[in-house]
Amino acid sequence: MDNDQILDLSEDDDFGYSLRPKTLSEFIGQEKVKEQLRIHIEAAKQRNEALEHVLLVSPPGLGKTTLARIISNEIQSNFKQAIGPVMEKLDLASTLTNLEKGDILFIDEIHRVKGYVQESLYPAMEDYQLDLTIGQGPGSDIMQVPLDPFTLVGATTREGLLAGPFRDRFGIRIHLDYYAAEDIQQAIRINSEKLKINIDEDAEYALARRSRGTMRIANKLLANVRDYAEVKGDGILSLEIAEEALEFFDIDERGLNKQDYAYFQILIENFSGRAGKKALAVALSEDERTISEVYEPYYIKEGFLALTPGGRVATDAAYTYFNYPISSQPSFFDST
Ligand code: ADP
Repeated sequence: MDNDQILDLSEDDDFGYSLRPKTLSEFIGQEKVKEQLRIHIEAAKQRNEALEHVLLVSPPGLGKTTLARIISNEIQSNFKQAIGPVMEKLDLASTLTNLEKGDILFIDEIHRVKGYVQESLYPAMEDYQLDLTIGQGPGSDIMQVPLDPFTLVGATTREGLLAGPFRDRFGIRIHLDYYAAEDIQQAIRINSEKLKINIDEDAEYALARRSRGTMRIANKLLANVRDYAEVKGDGILSLEIAEEALEFFDIDERGLNKQDYAYFQILIENFSGRAGKKALAVALSEDERTISEVYEPYYIKEGFLALTPGGRVATDAAYTYFNYPISSQPSFFDST
């Protein structure tokens, strides 16, 4: 088993699904977000109206899909899901016309919805109305189809890529932050109970600290380390077994793995500490989007990387952590 699996944030698995919190009170951490949502949900219920459209923004694995399902659960409405990039106008039309009052339409990767599909969402979001073009050419006509008031919940890792008018149509905008180790530890404890894993408290914390502030990584680490404990240990997930397993999976104290080490090695050794995203992607044989949406947000949060107009720059902290002499770092930050 290699740690690509642990860092694969692109898709969820059944394991994650069975552990998904179902109510706001089961959703760990993000206290302000929960409070904000509680108020909006309560107000919408009192007015007997559909909840305003919600935009959820965060790096992958922090709980956007989970929250979208929770919202639907809390308002007891149907939940329909669409994947942004593959959605066409016709899919959208049939999905929208099938929604009932108060239903949640969840669109993941909403920044990748095609421009013309986005535009046909505008009247649907604003006036609960769908503009359908009937016929072709000069004889074509636009028919306005009324829709039941619904709530669009959009999830994105890249808010900046949404067109301004589109973003403005979301009445509720929510940013999820990376979780504190204590929150992740709580999730590991709860999930260990659900999965009947016998885990020591210090092992919980060791896993939490290496989860990059990301719930999905915590779940995957727990699954992998449990397998290791079952095969190599006596079934009890002690600190010793946890550390042994983490070493086996090449995960260091900050949750960094071989791919992360390769990133900084290439940035520092091959590009003297500063590079453009394209060049890095080619050198790492990695997809540009994965680099900027999955890996780099955590490096930035940990203070290892700065995004500058001149490119990605490895910080002093990165030089120190990855064992390069700081004196070898060109002084990018001083230049004007
Ligand atoms: P995203 O949509 O942001 O990529 P998900 O909602 O799919 O993330 O969350 C990934 C996994 O992490 C889920 O399977 C869920 O079990 C878990 N998870 C996310 N947020 C929380 C939370 N606040 N509390 C407990 N578990 C969570």
